[in-house]
Amino acid sequence: MNTVHDNLIKINHEIRTIALDCDRDPNSVELIAVSKTKPVTLIAQAIDAGQLSFGENYVQEGVEKIAYFKKNMPDIPITWHFIGPLQSNKTKLVAENFDWMHTIDRFKIAQRLDAQRPANMNKLNVLIQVNISNEESKSGIHADEVANLVKQIMTLPNLRLRGLMAIPEIENDFTKQLEVFKQMTQLLASLKTDYPLLDTLSMGMSGDMKAAIIAGSTMIRIGSAIFGARQYV
Ligand SMILES: *Cc1c(COP(=O)(O)O)cnc(C)c1O
Repeated sequence: MNTVHDNLIKINHEIRTIALDCDRDPNSVELIAVSKTKPVTLIAQAIDAGQLSFGENYVQEGVEKIAYFKKNMPDIPITWHFIGPLQSNKTKLVAENFDWMHTIDRFKIAQRLDAQRPANMNKLNVLIQVNISNEESKSGIHADEVANLVKQIMTLPNLRLRGLMAIPEIENDFTKQLEVFKQMTQLLASLKTDYPLLDTLSMGMSGDMKAAIIAGSTMIRIGSAIFGARQYV
């Protein structure tokens, strides 16, 4: 047993408890372990504990880790999520290496990922990042622009649009956290009238995962509560 192992048991138990308390199937909430800045040795500990989905924020760092596990644990089916901001000159590395991309906020990025996705790989799963708190400095698009971007991304053959992602403004009040996450759930529900296959809401981090799960999150992204505090972000 080690700390990463213990932390994962604790968080999985928390997810399960929260889901059951609000009548959700615990298996409908996927835990993404955010391993940014953390070494492959800690990721390997998480894999030993049964965790197979990881999130990375920095392209180069993520690509190196993906290569490491492809080489050293080729039989382990790890799913890699890119969850950081992406400059258009780095799309190729994401298209060639990751399984999911959470932070699409403009059509140009989606077009590049589509064009650069290798033919021998599955479609890249993508999410549109929504600036749900309308923060000026935040990435993501405004809620009223989402429907148009969905329509555009649906034309791209090598991407599979799965849903929406958000990083709401930090808010300590539980009721307010819940209110914001519910706006995301409603936005996805409204899109599903035209696009019933959309099935993913990536929202909720260490500080707000309870509200996110109650509101309907299907992917929560947890870093420090699994791997410990980061030296830098
Ligand atoms: C770093 C990060 C997380 C994880 O944050 P923690 O506070 O360490 O749990 C989740 N989502 C995104 C987009 C991040 O950048």
